[in-house]
Amino acid sequence: MSATIPLPYMLDFYPLEDEKFTRIHQFFTNLKAGKFTTTRCKKCSTILWQPRVVCSECFSTELEWIELPKEGELFAYTAMVLGAPLGMEKEVPFVIGIVKLDGIDLKILSRIDDVKYEDCEIGMRVELKVIRLEDERVFYRFKPK
Ligand SMILES: [Zn+2]
Repeated sequence: MSATIPLPYMLDFYPLEDEKFTRIHQFFTNLKAGKFTTTRCKKCSTILWQPRVVCSECFSTELEWIELPKEGELFAYTAMVLGAPLGMEKEVPFVIGIVKLDGIDLKILSRIDDVKYEDCEIGMRVELKVIRLEDERVFYRFKPK
């Protein structure tokens, strides 16, 4: 469920997973522990993706962390063949998809690893894949289950 990839991955002028620079650092701390999480508004119960510090529906700042399902199905997908983000130019072509998580009304845009575009299909089962960079940062992708 975890993979390490070499730097550089992308431009990162500030250590954006660090508590000093972001109030959603808990997302990365949780991801390092294998938990896929986001914030939910305590006032109106809206589940916010990506994690936020203010509710986009009622503007409350009273949010709580909830754990998300780590599996789902491919809702839509495409291939990145040109114009990949800096650091990913040599990895094209790769798949980007929208994952509909199991048991929750939430669709997440993510890179889909370990599968070719030609082998993808709508409804394909996928699961979380935690990516670890050489400098200890983490982020998420999905892969076929
Ligand atoms: Zn709210």
